[in-house]
Amino acid sequence: MKRTFQQSSINGKVGIIMKAADLDNIDGLLIPGGESTVIGGLSSTNGTFQRMKAKINEGMPVMGTCAGLIMLSKRTYDKVVGESKQSLLGNLDVVVERNSYGHQGNSFETDLSIPALGTEPFRGVFIRAPSVKEIGPKVEVLAKLGATIVCVRQGKIIGTSFHPELTNDIRLHEFFLKSITEQN
Ligand code: GLN
Repeated sequence: MKRTFQQSSINGKVGIIMKAADLDNIDGLLIPGGESTVIGGLSSTNGTFQRMKAKINEGMPVMGTCAGLIMLSKRTYDKVVGESKQSLLGNLDVVVERNSYGHQGNSFETDLSIPALGTEPFRGVFIRAPSVKEIGPKVEVLAKLGATIVCVRQGKIIGTSFHPELTNDIRLHEFFLKSITEQN
């Protein structure tokens, strides 16, 4: 994100959310990849979970990538083990399948078409990636991989199955930043 600020000449600051109060003075939030059960568990214990959920409901722009997409979803299940009991923010009206493409060793990269970002293909890096199985009426599909939905937007909430931060292409981060700057 720092790189996006520099390359887009945006005078912004990037910070890491460690506690609920850190969420008070921010204009947008990126929920990164990792392990959604851990993000859900840890954020619930220090109060950031409830605060995040409330701020996103109030309209704070957010982008969730991979585990971040899972966190934003209203329901998730694992492709192999099925329903997993985990804390979900639920602001994004989608059902997400975890580990949709298999385990770590099945991770892959592929070119995606994301018309909202222009005609140039976007390199999708999929690491133990989830996919979107159901969408609500307010959810717009931004990209598919074959027949599977891998990038969505609902108002100021963006969710991606893949990791845009692992490429040099900043278009998706710029797209997210636009949803912040356009509201101010
Ligand atoms: N498989 C992880 C999960 O279910 C997500 C992987 C990732 O964020 N790269 O939370």
